[in-house]
Amino acid sequence: MRWLLRITIGVLALAVVALAVYLGPAHIQIRGVEPALPTEEELRALETTPGGPVSIRIARSSSQRGPDRDLNHSVVVIEWPDGRRFMIDAAMDQPTSEEFAKLIAKLSPGMGPVAFEGSAAELLKDKLDTVDGVGFTHLHEDHVQGIEAFCAERGEGARSYQTLWQATQHNLHTVDSARQLEGSCLEPVILQGDGLLTHSDFPGLGIVGLGGHTPGSTLFAVSVDGTLWLMSGDISNVKSMMLSNTGKGWLYSNLFVPENTARTEMLRLWFAAMDEKLDIEVVVAHDYAAALDSGLQPL
Ligand SMILES: [Zn+2]
Repeated sequence: MRWLLRITIGVLALAVVALAVYLGPAHIQIRGVEPALPTEEELRALETTPGGPVSIRIARSSSQRGPDRDLNHSVVVIEWPDGRRFMIDAAMDQPTSEEFAKLIAKLSPGMGPVAFEGSAAELLKDKLDTVDGVGFTHLHEDHVQGIEAFCAERGEGARSYQTLWQATQHNLHTVDSARQLEGSCLEPVILQGDGLLTHSDFPGLGIVGLGGHTPGSTLFAVSVDGTLWLMSGDISNVKSMMLSNTGKGWLYSNLFVPENTARTEMLRLWFAAMDEKLDIEVVVAHDYAAALDSGLQPL
């Protein structure tokens, strides 16, 4: 029996070493991304920016039922007074949505089949040509892949707006989407620095490097009709878990997606404090129901 024990311990030790080699660099990298956050006052300056946006809408691309939560993939579309629009996240096309849902069902048993409602291009319909700007809360496939259908329909002419972290810091789960963006129709605009970043193309749009979930995780903030909307991406997957400061679990944050959990906790608390204000609403990318509850209108 002793040899069997030795072999078992040996195999386990090898598995741990292999995992450390596979995930270690991503864990070290994400712990080094902790950009300064803006103050509430700095964010509120977006409310008074001249020529700021006039509407914000959400469109659901797909959803997957689960025992304790639904996993939704949506795009947020913001409109400026001159009719130009900015899209946050691109979701996925139908084949990729179905593949992604199968992977999720393997990782979290009990998740049902995907209900597909349309790619970003299909959801935007006649508004597609007015989308001149695109931003990604982070470069995971389920937020980026839909840019393929977007570009196929829209053609050249839109720009992407990224922090330096999102444009340059990639890991095993973001490198493919980063490559896809490089070959896409989007002309890249890279914003340097930390804290609240803005660009004259879209006045009143705030862009903030967050880290935590991925090195390039980014907050997009706009004020529309007296409500300050904070698109927080995947810092939490469920809004109630953000508000109760509940993490995603050890397996998720250490093995599935290498996260900086000290940073995601700090961000949950920061977002929860913001969301407490009557005129500030935090939008959690995968929680469509919570977005509607907070007053975000469907496209
Ligand atoms: Zn996601």
